[in-house]
Amino acid sequence: MSEVRTALVIGGGIAGPVTATALRKAGIEAVVHEAHPTESNGIGGMLALAPNGLAALGVVGADDAVRSIASPIRRTVMSIGGRKPSEMPGLPDLPPLQVVERGRLHRVLRDRAVEEGVRFEYGKRLVGADEDPGGVTARFADGSTARADILVGADGVRSTVRTLIDPDAPGPDYTGMLGFEGLADADLDVEPGTMTFAFGRRAYYLFWPGSGGGVVWGANLPSREYLTLTEARAIPAADWLRELRETYAGDVPGGELAARTTVETLQVTGALHIMPPVRHWYRDRMVLVGDAVHAPSNSTGQGASLAIESAIQLARCLRDLPGPSPAFAAYEGLRRARVEKITARGAKLNHAKTPGPVARKTMSLMMPLMFRAMNFEKVLGGEQRHVIDWDARVTATPVTASTV
Ligand SMILES: Cc1cc2nc3c(=O)[nH]c(=O)nc-3n(C[C@H](O)[C@H](O)[C@H](O)COP(=O)(O)OP(=O)(O)OC[C@H]3O[C@@H](n4cnc5c(N)ncnc54)[C@H](O)[C@@H]3O)c2cc1C
Repeated sequence: MSEVRTALVIGGGIAGPVTATALRKAGIEAVVHEAHPTESNGIGGMLALAPNGLAALGVVGADDAVRSIASPIRRTVMSIGGRKPSEMPGLPDLPPLQVVERGRLHRVLRDRAVEEGVRFEYGKRLVGADEDPGGVTARFADGSTARADILVGADGVRSTVRTLIDPDAPGPDYTGMLGFEGLADADLDVEPGTMTFAFGRRAYYLFWPGSGGGVVWGANLPSREYLTLTEARAIPAADWLRELRETYAGDVPGGELAARTTVETLQVTGALHIMPPVRHWYRDRMVLVGDAVHAPSNSTGQGASLAIESAIQLARCLRDLPGPSPAFAAYEGLRRARVEKITARGAKLNHAKTPGPVARKTMSLMMPLMFRAMNFEKVLGGEQRHVIDWDARVTATPVTASTV
């Protein structure tokens, strides 16, 4: 039984509300402090939750509510260099991916947390924290403070808590791509519930039929220049649209998707990141969860799902182990190898999305062969079939497979 009775959760995105709800289930009082003035953090766009993420949401009773606002993806296909898409073998017996609007997902997770008695404070940007033997005091940009037994950093890929734990912690790596999402007023022959991953001549994109008509598509635009979300959004949408139209001009149907997207239906979702291994997941009374410690890049389709899993595992460890140190150590032991393996897969995919001119030519020949030879069960089965047994008691778990 833990001596931890109260927690400050920093960040009200995905990991934050799920951590707070799971902590309540573990008997620990939690308050979420979010920098944004509202429940949506303003990134926007859609994201896909994998079966393992939905299974983990089931632990905090949020899975059905999320399914009710999501659209299932029952089939995935891949198109390389404009060739006819080939079917990606599914993983038998697994439920579908669920595509959901980020803003609506935040709302549902928040509502579920509030139902469990979690309090949310908005407009609270963490700027510092002071630990002492009796607890931890968080300091916010507005001059206010809050105190609890522990502090959980669920503050995303540019985490402040990560640098409070270790001032030398590396920041995220830039994948060399900027993210965009468009709704194209196009009438393509795409089956409902089918998502297409497309390696175009110059850039990668993906698309699926929109639930209200048209085609939703996500673009990964190669860009040497790194731009923050604010910087990218400061550039007029018309300029971005021009660039996307040029980049995808020779692609089928990429060219049509770009041509049929307007400035009103284009969203800039920002630079795409991947986290290198983080040496210190915790220190004394502070610990990291979600993108703050393991952003595997959007290429894996696992960032949100892993964030949810980690939130649940952290709460289990705090429920079963006597204090912050043994609980945080067991949590890292349960999580590090899994998230680093998935991140390594993401890094490989990012390379395939940004090939040089020579690699691009060989890739369009090699990829279909590699794809046909790939064992999907081996590559994705372990990721997507992962289920957390909430009721199983956690014992001390050593850290394995660390690459730091
Ligand atoms: C374009 C794009 C597409 C993606 N697609 C997918 C996908 O299809 N599937 C998938 O699983 N994942 C996807 N991801 C990744 C996914 O969005 C993240 O893995 C997920 O959001 C991580 O959740 P989180 O709660 O850890 O971080 P976030 O969702 O980033 O939430 C962090 C929160 O902390 C707040 N915050 C930050 N700093 C502070 C501070 N100092 N004080 C207080 N609050 C703070 C932020 O405002 C934010 O609300 C995608 C990402 C991008 C960029």
